[in-house]
Amino acid sequence: MLGAIIGDIVGSRFEFNNHRSKDFELFGSGCFATDDSIMTLAIAKAIMEATSLVKSANDHAGFYRELSRLTVENMQQLGRKYPNCGFGGRFYGWVFSDDPQPYNSFGNGAAMRVSPAAFSANSLEDAIARSEAVTRVTHNHPEGIKGANATTTAIFMARAGASKSQIGKEISEKYYPLNFKIDEIRETYHFNETCQETVPQAIQCFLESVSFEDAIRNAISIGGDSDTVAAITGSIAEAHYGVPEDIKEEALAYLDDELLAIYNKWVAFAPPCQSDSLKQ
Ligand SMILES: [Mg+2]
Repeated sequence: MLGAIIGDIVGSRFEFNNHRSKDFELFGSGCFATDDSIMTLAIAKAIMEATSLVKSANDHAGFYRELSRLTVENMQQLGRKYPNCGFGGRFYGWVFSDDPQPYNSFGNGAAMRVSPAAFSANSLEDAIARSEAVTRVTHNHPEGIKGANATTTAIFMARAGASKSQIGKEISEKYYPLNFKIDEIRETYHFNETCQETVPQAIQCFLESVSFEDAIRNAISIGGDSDTVAAITGSIAEAHYGVPEDIKEEALAYLDDELLAIYNKWVAFAPPCQSDSLKQ
């Protein structure tokens, strides 16, 4: 989850002012925590609440049902406190609706906010079920679900110790062809808010990286919807590399007290970022 928040904050000042190079200051004037961070934290809070509400570990259906309900509740409650954090038009309407319904979206918001599903799961099957539970409340278009599930799969496999080539193979076979290099798309990739034009690029930025920071720099360097591309890439890079302490400290300084409290609770709640015992 932290990797998504870092990617979002670093990318925030480049979303409408793309920077097509890997050479830049990670944090600087104009950086802020946008909707990507805030909705990621709302989902983390929903997962924590669903876990304490559904006591029986065997009640899977009950857990996923409560998780969907609490995702709606928390995305609305937290979202209404940050109306200017960068919501897209339809999602803004959903946040403030008295009767929030899924609206068949395949926007990349599905993928940028989903990482807590992958970081809290004990198996890939559980991760995908969590991903779908938090996604279908808004992004119930098949491409929306697919974007969330592809991101979740990459994160979960990285947590379980899969190599980059194993992750790339799985994503290529089950989700998106990864038949391009980021150097080839850097000049022509453009702003696009769909999952299908954001998630494969973000995954490729991770696959071609050599460190957490390098993954974030790759994501910014292709331009487009920079905060969201970097949030998705960052969430996968966190699972593979971990997050350097200095980058973590700089990013957390951008969270206000309420957001920081959710983050700190999550750190105490979430299982280890990486574990060999996870079932793929
Ligand atoms: Mg954003």
